[in-house]
Amino acid sequence: MAVTAKPALQRLRITLRGAVQGVGFRPFVYRLATEMSLSGWVLNSSAGLVVEIEGPSEQLTRFEQRLEQERPKASVVTVREFAWLAAEGATRFEILASDHDSGKTVNVLPDLATCTDCREELFDPSNRRFEYPFTNCTNCGPRYTIVVDIPYDRPNTTMRDFVLCPSCREEYENPANRRFHAQPNACPVCGPRLDGAIEDAVEALRQGEIVALKGIGGFQLLVDARNPAAVARLRERKHREEKPFAVMMPSLEVARAYCEISQAEVELLESQAAPIVLLQPKLLHPKSGTGIAQNVAHCSPYLGVMLPYSPLHHLLMQECRFPLIATSGNRSDEPIAIANEEAVVRLKDIADHFLMHNRPIVRACDDSVVRLTRGRAGILRRARGYAPLGIHVGHDLPPVLAVGGHLKNTVAIGVGRDVFLSQHIGDLETVEARGAFAKAIDDLCRLYSFKPEVIACDLHPDYASTHWAEKSGLPVIRVQHHQAHVAACAAENNVEGAYLGVSWDGTGYGLDGAIWGGEFFRVEGKNAEGNHAEGNQFTRIAHLRPFGLPGGDAAVREGWRSAESLMFEVAGQNSSGPDVEEQMPGNPRLDRAKIGYMLRHGVNVVPTTSVGRLFDAVACMTGVALLNRFEGQAAMLLENEIGSLRTEQAYALPGGDWGPLILAVLADKRAGVAVPLIAARFHNALVSWIVEVAATAGLKQVVLSGGVFQNRYLTERAAAALESRGFVVHTHHQVPPNDGGIALGQAVMSML
Ligand SMILES: [Zn+2]
Ligand SMILES: [Zn+2]
Ligand SMILES: [Zn+2]
Repeated sequence: MAVTAKPALQRLRITLRGAVQGVGFRPFVYRLATEMSLSGWVLNSSAGLVVEIEGPSEQLTRFEQRLEQERPKASVVTVREFAWLAAEGATRFEILASDHDSGKTVNVLPDLATCTDCREELFDPSNRRFEYPFTNCTNCGPRYTIVVDIPYDRPNTTMRDFVLCPSCREEYENPANRRFHAQPNACPVCGPRLDGAIEDAVEALRQGEIVALKGIGGFQLLVDARNPAAVARLRERKHREEKPFAVMMPSLEVARAYCEISQAEVELLESQAAPIVLLQPKLLHPKSGTGIAQNVAHCSPYLGVMLPYSPLHHLLMQECRFPLIATSGNRSDEPIAIANEEAVVRLKDIADHFLMHNRPIVRACDDSVVRLTRGRAGILRRARGYAPLGIHVGHDLPPVLAVGGHLKNTVAIGVGRDVFLSQHIGDLETVEARGAFAKAIDDLCRLYSFKPEVIACDLHPDYASTHWAEKSGLPVIRVQHHQAHVAACAAENNVEGAYLGVSWDGTGYGLDGAIWGGEFFRVEGKNAEGNHAEGNQFTRIAHLRPFGLPGGDAAVREGWRSAESLMFEVAGQNSSGPDVEEQMPGNPRLDRAKIGYMLRHGVNVVPTTSVGRLFDAVACMTGVALLNRFEGQAAMLLENEIGSLRTEQAYALPGGDWGPLILAVLADKRAGVAVPLIAARFHNALVSWIVEVAATAGLKQVVLSGGVFQNRYLTERAAAALESRGFVVHTHHQVPPNDGGIALGQAVMSML
C-alpha cells in the first residue's frame, strides 16, 4: 500500500508481519530513523514488528520507501499495515522492550547460514571469535532449532543457560552493533563449547571412519565421499540400500570441479537457506572417475551438493578439504537424533566417532533439498532454512490442523491467512517416525499457541496420519490425496479462477477406493476475494486407463508386477523376457507364475490409474529397473536414460489409454531401439496427453502437481508445450510436488 502524503508533522504507525524477528530488523529501523533524524520507537510484538515514526510527512513517506528497499536480507514481509496518528512531539528514537501480550501470530524464522561477516571473523586470528564454532549475528545463525517459545528472545531459546559475558552483552545491547539482540550471540568466553576436537574428527574421516556430528538441526553422519568402502559401510549400517547421499563440499571452487553449476545454482548454494542443491555431475561414467565414490549417488542423474552452513561446518571443511557425505543422523525410517545422550545410544552401531557440543537443539530439522526447475528454485524436501516460514494464501482459513499423507510427511496449521508447514518429518513407517509425527504436531501448535478446531487428513483409511486424526476427538475433514496435491500448488501460486489440475504420483486413495495417480481435475478455484463458487469444486475429467496391480501395495516396491500386468492386458499373458528373470528377487519362475495366476483370476488385484506405476512398468520392460529400492527410483532411472537426447517423437497414448504405448515399447525393445529413445518417446507421450486434455478442457490455467512432477524432463517439457499454446502453467516452488506438500493442500481445502 502506498502512503498518501499528509501535511506538516505527522506520526505513522507501521506494522509488519512475516519473518521480521531475529533478522536484525529493529537495529536496522533504529539506524534508518536516526540517520533520517526521525523520532519514535520500534518494538517486537507477538503480532509483528511495530514502528511508530514521527516527522514531516514527506520524510515519513521516504522512510517507508527505504524501509522496504533496504530491509534486512533475511526478512520476509507478508503483511504491511499503516495508520496515521496525531504527532506526540517525541524527540528521540528508541527500541522498546518486546510486548508479550497479544496473540502469537508472528512467524518463527528458519535457521540461517553463516554470513560473510561472521565467516571472515571466524578465520581472522586477531578476532576474539577466531575459530569459534558457534559464532553468529542478527544476519545469521540458528533460529527455529533453538527457539522454545515466542516472541523470539534469548530467554525463550536454548541459549538461556549461557550468560552473556560483558563483551557479548555490550554487543547485544548496542543498536549500532551487528549483534544487537542476536539471541544466540556467544563467544569462547561465555558460549557453547565443543566436546572433542575438530582435528580428531577429521583424522577419523581420513581413516574412512563414520563421524556423527552434532549440527544445526540434529546429528549428521559424515564419511569421506571419495572412499567407496567407507560409503558402503555407511549404507550397510544405516540400512540404506541405494538412495543417493548428499555431499558437503569444502567450497564452491571444489564443488565446481565435480559439478556443472549455473549462476542460479550458485545463488541457491550460497543462499541463507544453504540447502542441498541437486546438480549435474561433470563426469557420469564410473571408470572415468569423478573422485566421488560411485556408490554415493550412482542411480541418480544428480549429485546433491551443499556448502558449509554453520561455523562448525566451515572449520571442519577447512581442515579436511575433501567432499564429505553429510546425511541425517538416523537409521532409515527413523527420526534424526538431536540430543547428545540420545545420539550416543541410537547411533552407536553406525558411528565410529562423535563430535558433539552443549548447545541444545529443540527440534530436528533435516537439510533441505532443492533443484532448479523451470529456471527457479523448486523445493523437494522442505526443512532447514525454509521451515517454518508461512505460505500466504490470500484468504482466511479456519483453525485447521492438516496432518499430511503417509510418505515424506509434513504437518501444517492454518493461522489467519498463513499456513505454517512443519519441517520434513519423513515416512510414517515406524513407531519412532509416528512418535516424531505426533511430537511435531504438539510442537507446532505449542509454538504458535494454536488450538485446532478441525483436522484435515487424507482419505486413505489406513494411513497412520488418518488414524491420528480420527483419535483426536475433533471434527475430521477427509481430503482426497490428488485434490490436495493440486490445491497445494494452486495455493502457493495464489491461483485465482478455474484451472486444470494435473495430479500424477505413485499412490493415493481415490474417491472410488482404487489407487489413483494419473488424474485430471477441473477445479473451480477461488475468486479475487478468496471466495469459492457454490457446488462441487473438483471434477475428475480424465484419468489414466485403469489396470490391475497384482498384490496391491507390494507392486509399489516391485515395479515388475506393473509390467507383468500391462503385458497381460495387451498380450493376454504376462512375460517380461529373460533379463527380468535374471534380476528378479526370490524365485522368478515361481513369482511370475503366481502373478500370472493372480492376473488370470483377478485375485488380489487392485485397480490403479497411477502414472507412477506406468513409469515402473516401462522401466521394467526396458530393463532399466525392476524394483524401487526407494520411492520413485525406477522413474528417476528412466528419466536419467534420456540424458541429453532431444526428440519430438512420442508414443501414442490416446485419451490416457496405455494399450498402444505398451505394444510400441515392446516392439521397440524387440527391434533393438536404444533405451534412451524409448524413454524419451515415453516421456513425450505423457506430455502430449497433458496438452490433449488441456486443449479439450477449455481452461487457461494448468496446475501440475504430484510426485511424478519431480521429474524435471517431464515438468519442463510439459510446461513449455503448454505455454507455447497459450496456457498459463503453475508448478511447485515453495513446497514439494511430492507428498511433502499434501498438508498445505489439506489445510486450504478444509474451508471448502
Ligand atoms: Zn553473521
Ligand atoms: Zn561472550
Ligand atoms: Zn501423492
